[in-house]
Amino acid sequence: MAASRVRTPVCVLGLGLIGGSVLRAAAAADRVAFGYNRSADGVNAAIADGFDATTDLESALIRAAQTGALIVIAVPVPALAMLLGHIARLAPECPLTDVTSVKGAVLEQVTAAGLRARFVGGHPMAGTAHSGWPAGHADLFRGAPWVISVDEHVDPMVFAAVLDLILDCGSVAVPACSDEHDAAAAAISHLPHLLAEALAVTAADVPLAFALAAGSFRDGTRVAGTAPELVRAMCEANAPQLLPSLERSIKLLTAARDSLTAANSVAELVNHGHAARTRYDNFPRSEIVTVVIGERDWRRDLAAAGRAGGVIRSALPVRDSR
Ligand code: NAD
Repeated sequence: MAASRVRTPVCVLGLGLIGGSVLRAAAAADRVAFGYNRSADGVNAAIADGFDATTDLESALIRAAQTGALIVIAVPVPALAMLLGHIARLAPECPLTDVTSVKGAVLEQVTAAGLRARFVGGHPMAGTAHSGWPAGHADLFRGAPWVISVDEHVDPMVFAAVLDLILDCGSVAVPACSDEHDAAAAAISHLPHLLAEALAVTAADVPLAFALAAGSFRDGTRVAGTAPELVRAMCEANAPQLLPSLERSIKLLTAARDSLTAANSVAELVNHGHAARTRYDNFPRSEIVTVVIGERDWRRDLAAAGRAGGVIRSALPVRDSR
């Protein structure tokens, strides 16, 4: 049985809010951590803050290949194909992960680029409405759930390396299959973005509304402050899973409108909503400690544990099956 904590160097591609925070957290955990960013502004800001960054993608990837670094893709979905092409050419053997808010569409592109064997997808469930290097910080992920993919193809050693980074970032890892992640992300992340946009637009049409707006409006529209291109990228890349969630919400709101019109009551929606929120507040969170990475059925066992509310808080033992 191999030791599960491997101090793999980290190469972050895209030094925005999420990638910039990963780079800071990896460096704070005493890893060799370096990054690429397309814009010189981001790179200059990172260097000024004492980090190792470049606008030269090729040199970053050659260095990753030479050091066996874990490559973290931290760009929006539309920029993936370009990066994957360069990774396939210059660093195809490096372990590879991402932070993208959709997992199925990314896995398809990774597979098309011939990189699936070294890929374990990820999605930190943390963020702010701000973008770019200045918005990031080393503690962004502290205490937050970070989804780690346990699809059938997932390699034990790559999984262990990605898990190690997640734990170094202070997150708890939630194992999940890509399709289950996308259905859940549609409901708890992408749908809230659309509802927040609709809420903001609705209030903007009402005179005096912004003058009176306080906590409810601020909380309900917080994510509408996210850069539109990022919201579009995540919602549109997850359309097959988002559509049923959106449909369900529209039906609930339509029924509430009809009931308000006919009987002056929103009781059904409010009661069900309150009960669902209470279930969420009491949702059990257990720690996954018994699974050995690489043993028979380990991916299936982790997916089942994640579904039941299990999280990984510290490194799991690894059996190298290669
Ligand atoms: P950001 O705008 O802060 O950073 C995006 C980064 O991608 C920047 O470094 C930018 O230079 C780079 N980029 C954009 N287009 C590019 C291109 N064509 N070629 C090369 N680089 C390009 O955004 P972010 O919030 O850090 O989002 C990055 C990823 O993280 C996205 O995939 C997003 O889905 C995911 N994510 C975001 C949040 C959030 O709350 N913002 C949370 C979890 C995951």
